[in-house]
Amino acid sequence: DEHIRLSLRIVPYGKNYRLLIARDITRLQQLEQMRRDFVANVSHELRTPLTVVCGYLETLEEECGRGEPELQKIIATMREQSERMQRIVDDLLMLSRLETERVSEQPEPVNVAAMLAQVCEDARRLSGPEHHQIRLEADAGLWLRGNDNELRSLFSNLVFNAVRYTPGGGEITVKWFCDDSDAVFEVADSGIGIAEHHLSRLTERFYRVDTGRSRARGGTGLGLAIVKHVLLRHGGRLEIDSRLDEGSTFRARLPAARVVRTGREPTGGSL
Ligand code: ADP
Repeated sequence: DEHIRLSLRIVPYGKNYRLLIARDITRLQQLEQMRRDFVANVSHELRTPLTVVCGYLETLEEECGRGEPELQKIIATMREQSERMQRIVDDLLMLSRLETERVSEQPEPVNVAAMLAQVCEDARRLSGPEHHQIRLEADAGLWLRGNDNELRSLFSNLVFNAVRYTPGGGEITVKWFCDDSDAVFEVADSGIGIAEHHLSRLTERFYRVDTGRSRARGGTGLGLAIVKHVLLRHGGRLEIDSRLDEGSTFRARLPAARVVRTGREPTGGSL
């Protein structure tokens, strides 16, 4: 379109004056839009061929069940890597949607406690033989107006990260409650922790403290960027407390104005 976009700032100028600073950011915004469209298109175009490749590799793996061990290993690695690519493409698409789609003005209330029970169940599967102790303490009467899909992604990214970055047998506590000012979703782990100087950069795309570990644990490097965007769209914010070698707590604060109270009592329990 033909519109010019301006960024305006008013600053004090001497005792009696104010200075209005106007900057033309039209070109900047056009470039940003081009970047978004490009990422969205590339991810979209990669999706179909990747699905085909993954499907055939799965068949091939089954067919070669009795074949040469070396060949089996090669095919298994190809399947794992193509599935990893699929997860990255899915996360990139999700991020594109979060950046471009309009936020619904009248979102339906979501049963967060029920959603968290499912997420914790999935996390237990991800943990597998490592047997993390995953505890859920959720207020079942506390529903939240928001986007179902986006909230599920917010919760699962934080809970799965806790599993990924906590050695086997470690403890993970997931809480959902209301404090004086906000609805709070909190995941505390007894894992590897994060050094202070990384904290401010964690929500950048593909920023990782230890790339090798993230990849080996199935991470895409996009989880916390998704978390940040979902929170932005819900008027929330992320707090991170962490100590190296002791563990981390990720806390998502969501505005109390989104809360819908139902009659149910809080439920706890160990998974
Ligand atoms: P990834 O897919 O690599 O986990 P994320 O965006 O979810 O990407 O997280 C970014 C980085 O933050 C991770 O690579 C990891 O280094 C660090 N991180 C995230 N969650 C935790 C956690 N619970 N404990 C320790 N480090 C974490």
